Amino acid sequence: MNNTETWQQALADLITDPGELLSLLELDPALYQEAMQAVQSFPLKVPRGYVKRMQKGNLHDPLLQQVLPLGLELIQVPGYDLDPLHESETNPVPGLLHKYHGRVLITLTSACAIHCRFCFRRHFPYDENNPGKRGWEKIFAYLAKDPSISEVILSGGDPLAVSDHLLQSFTQQLTLIPHIKRLRIHTRLPIVLPERITPSLLDWLTHLTLEPVIVVHTNHPQEINEEVEAALSLLKRASIHVLNQSVLLKGVNDEALILALLSEKLFAAGVLPYYLHLLDKVQGAAHFDLLHERAQTLHRELSAMLPGYLVPRLVCEEAGRPGKVLV
Ligand SMILES: *Cc1c(COP(=O)(O)O)cnc(C)c1O
Ligand code: SF4
Repeated sequence: MNNTETWQQALADLITDPGELLSLLELDPALYQEAMQAVQSFPLKVPRGYVKRMQKGNLHDPLLQQVLPLGLELIQVPGYDLDPLHESETNPVPGLLHKYHGRVLITLTSACAIHCRFCFRRHFPYDENNPGKRGWEKIFAYLAKDPSISEVILSGGDPLAVSDHLLQSFTQQLTLIPHIKRLRIHTRLPIVLPERITPSLLDWLTHLTLEPVIVVHTNHPQEINEEVEAALSLLKRASIHVLNQSVLLKGVNDEALILALLSEKLFAAGVLPYYLHLLDKVQGAAHFDLLHERAQTLHRELSAMLPGYLVPRLVCEEAGRPGKVLV
């Protein structure tokens, strides 16, 4: 079996049944009912290899907390919306968001390998907004007529959930637009399904005429096991820039020591911290949120523990602003 089959099989074999997740982790089956309610609006999805990094019997495991559907998600909290970033307003072509100068965000797929319960895209109408290969023409036409765009960002869904072949054919066409210089890939796959970093993917990355940048998404040091370290070091050896973004989450990583350890572990694997995002106020995720003051205190503590280059920028997103906002 080659690597390609391995990652695609793992992607086809995600855990989607809350009952199976609870039983694998030896958790109280009484949690099943509320989980089944929560998955109605946002299904459970988690790779088996990621579940293996969780501690059995621990409901508060920081990895489990990121994926376990809870009844709490059903509570409607004022101020937490379906489209917190008003993305539907900055969406000139299906599958393309153009909010900031010089860079556009493109979703090649609506699929992710994992469903993070705090995700701000949990209610985004992906299916209406999934360009598919036929929508590419409009995307390329939009990019070609705006020479101010120098960077294309592939983002969530997870761009690495698609085949190498599809990535190749996308970038072949992208390369024809001379003002596009960089290709940024926002992905959680190297962390949650490290098998995805195959020789063929590395071959594509290293032969791009665009400068590639990968931004992974890790929230807790326990997510980084040996397989993840190996996958990240392959990227490093291929001289790919790899950055990390995290989301600050109550009950997962809201301690300076945890965040410091995360930065250290990432750096050892060749990854620099980029952003620490405040939660986007999406309906169903209010229980992960922290007060701004608490976030700022944590960030100050973190800055006192680490060299400057290991401290991620604490940011939030506000609709209508020209970039992420420093907190
Ligand atoms: C976050 C985001 C970007 C990238 O912002 P950077 O500060 O360059 O990382 C680009 N486009 C959209 C729509 C975004 O949400
Ligand atoms: S887009 Fe990113 S944060 Fe959202 S569910 Fe997918 S992997 Fe998780």
